[in-house]
Amino acid sequence: MIYPIVIYGHPVLKRVAPDISKEEYPHIKQIVNDMFDTMEVSHGVGLAAPQIGLSARIFVVNGNPLKEDYPEMENFRKVFINAHITEYWGEEEIIEEGCLSIPGMHEDVSRKSNIRIEYLDEDWNFHTDVFSGYTARVIQHEYDHLDGILYVDRVSQLRKRLIKGKLNGIIKGNFDADYKTILSGQKLKTIEK
Ligand code: ZN
Repeated sequence: MIYPIVIYGHPVLKRVAPDISKEEYPHIKQIVNDMFDTMEVSHGVGLAAPQIGLSARIFVVNGNPLKEDYPEMENFRKVFINAHITEYWGEEEIIEEGCLSIPGMHEDVSRKSNIRIEYLDEDWNFHTDVFSGYTARVIQHEYDHLDGILYVDRVSQLRKRLIKGKLNGIIKGNFDADYKTILSGQKLKTIEK
C-alpha cells in the first residue's frame, strides 16, 4: 500500500517515536514493504514511520537514486528498526537537505560525518554499524524524525526567521507535491501493525 505523506505542522512529526516489539508488530514486513513503496513513488531516499503517521522507531533508506552523485549509496537499501545512534564523530559538514514532509524547500544543515548506530532488521536481528559521508547524513535526517526533529529545526536562527512564512504556508497546504499528502487536522490512515 502507498501511504500519503504527513506534512509539516502535523503533531505526529513532533512526537518522539517509541521502540517497538515483535509481539506488538506481527505485520512488520508488510509495513516495511509499504514504506519502501511509498518512498519510491514519492521519489524519496529515506522515509521514517512518523511520515506515514505511525509513531514507531522505524525508517527506511534507498540510496539508489543518489548513485550518480554519491556512488557509495548505490544499492544501499536498508530498514532500521528501534534505531539508536550511539556515537557521532568527525567533521561538521554543511549540505543542503530536503524532506518529503516539507515539499518544495531545501536548506543547508550541518551534521557530523560519522555515526555508529544500533538497530534491528525486519527479521528482528540486532546490528551495530558505522556509517560515514552521505549515507551517515541520510540516516541522521531519518533518525531525527524518530525524535520529533525536522531538518528545519537545525538551520540557523537567521534562516529560521527567513523561512517562517514559507513553513506557515506549507502547514496550510500551500505547496506542490506529486504524491498524496496529509495536512495537520486531517485524519491519518490506519496502519495494521
Ligand atoms: Zn525528512
